[in-house]
Amino acid sequence: MTPGDETRQPRGEPRILVVGGVAGGASCAARARRLSEDAEILVFERGPYVSFANCGLPYYVGDVITSERSLLVATPELFKRRFNIEVRLQSEVRAVDRARQEIEVRNAVTGETYREKYDALVLAPGSAPIRPPLPGIDLAGIFTLRTIPDSRQMKQWITERRVERAVVVGGGFIGLETTENLVRRGISVTIIEMLHQVMPPIDPEMAVPVQDHLAANGVTLHLGDGAAGFTPGPDGHSIAVSTRSGASFACEMVLLAIGVRPESALAREDGLEVGALGGIRVNDQMRTSDEHIWAVGDAVEVRDFVTGDWALIPLAGPANRQGRIAADAILGRDTRFRGVQGTAVCRVFDITVAATGASEKALRRRAAGQSIAYEKVYLHPGHHANYYPGARPITIKLIFSPGDGRVLGAQAVGEEGVEKRVDAISVAIQRGSTVFDLEQAELCYAPQFGTAKDPVNVAGMIAANVVRGDAPVAHWTEVFGSNAFLLDVREPAEFKTGHPEGATNIPLNSLRSRMHELPRDREILVYCAVGQRAYYATRALRLHGFAARNISGGMRSYNAQWQARGTP
Ligand code: FAD
Repeated sequence: MTPGDETRQPRGEPRILVVGGVAGGASCAARARRLSEDAEILVFERGPYVSFANCGLPYYVGDVITSERSLLVATPELFKRRFNIEVRLQSEVRAVDRARQEIEVRNAVTGETYREKYDALVLAPGSAPIRPPLPGIDLAGIFTLRTIPDSRQMKQWITERRVERAVVVGGGFIGLETTENLVRRGISVTIIEMLHQVMPPIDPEMAVPVQDHLAANGVTLHLGDGAAGFTPGPDGHSIAVSTRSGASFACEMVLLAIGVRPESALAREDGLEVGALGGIRVNDQMRTSDEHIWAVGDAVEVRDFVTGDWALIPLAGPANRQGRIAADAILGRDTRFRGVQGTAVCRVFDITVAATGASEKALRRRAAGQSIAYEKVYLHPGHHANYYPGARPITIKLIFSPGDGRVLGAQAVGEEGVEKRVDAISVAIQRGSTVFDLEQAELCYAPQFGTAKDPVNVAGMIAANVVRGDAPVAHWTEVFGSNAFLLDVREPAEFKTGHPEGATNIPLNSLRSRMHELPRDREILVYCAVGQRAYYATRALRLHGFAARNISGGMRSYNAQWQARGTP
């Protein structure tokens, strides 16, 4: 190809209309322009802004981001000048006439309704916060957070009403990020969450450190209970939030953060296929059941990369990538969406929690006949070399197939270096990699960044030892009620600080001389503080003919696992 000879530019002047002008819609429109100078591209956005940073909204509420303008990633003028894309704000697409390939648009400012023709239509309407029809739900002071005006109103309410107490209903990403920001503003926060854990996408034992950290930062957690209604307080200033169990919490402000629902009404009304989860069904090129219509972002159901199930994953990364793929498909390129993994990260005060791929509970929920065999390991390595000042532990849970070692999912929580480990594992999952690949991965190392055996390598090594049968693991949940011999290989001083009932202490350093004390007719479950000494002990015992397994994660996993089960 000679310079200027862009032979791949598609012929013709397709008219591409995009509904929704934020993550998925804006990405799609801009990508379409990069692929065709001839296409006519129009974006219709119901709200007053295009391409704004919705992920920054909690931090605007908390005054970390102080200027509203910095939330505006682009403006209609910029789209016009830079990309020759026309953006129409406050323009709601009300209907799609598929037979005529036309949309009906209502201008919210003038009230005018008009129609526009399309060759290709892209639906990127996102998802709306769930607002259940509970008594008192429409009281002033009860907010959801999706748009810049939502965050502006929250800020105004906090200042004008001198909010001192807030209730956040829902302990997911948006609930937790906003909680941190409300606390930053000096507000005392109670989180009401229906599940017995915060952060629903991760497994309950991995949420325990997050819960402990929230409590340490003064947040009241009310788990395992749902909001039932809202009534004005007797002082005329406050709101009483009542729960299903009969508890009541007084506050001056409520944030509802109980999840989002795909905005698929337009698609549904126009007869496009909508899945059982309520999202618009698309293929791997983001095409809907109508060959002239594509859909992207929070509004669509796509395949889960690990399980192959239909999934709704409302995250900015997939929305942006899907927008690009729809543009490629419309303009004749054969790009395919690989499926979602739910790779996500959240900062809660001083700790970060991140996850990718399947969680254990998602794998367990699968119906019989569709089950996917899995094993898991826990580890607690330092985020960088322990000899270098400031090393902080990361708790990692790696889920993998016990047969071939394929990596299925990972979760991690800690103060530093959490997301880079989960990102590395995320790429491994998308490449169909195994624990043996993690074991061999060559990763950055200098003492202030990691360890020569990075936590990702160590996770791979532990799991690979399981798959190879060198060091099989056990889990605390299977220890009690079993007749296994429970062996603690920590030092006596550590043993004295606390141990599970029935455990026998033989420190690793004297194990070889005291093996005669161990039973040969019972399985030996070995543990230490985090799993490393128990691994050495397990190997030695197995080489001496004992049936030994290492309790994954050691004592550091013990408390979290029992707290997550509700009873120690
Ligand atoms: P949106 O970005 O929501 O855009 C849809 C747009 O379509 C809306 O502006 C809407 O007004 C418009 N629209 C809807 N219907 C019509 C219609 N009929 N006509 C015209 N316009 C219409 N994700 C992350 O990955 N990381 C984060 O940290 C993160 N933080 C978040 C924090 C908050 C407070 C929120 C609300 C979301 C956050 N998300 C985060 C999720 C992420 O923002 C969404 O997944 C992403 O924006 C979805 O992109 P989308 O294009 O599908 O929808």
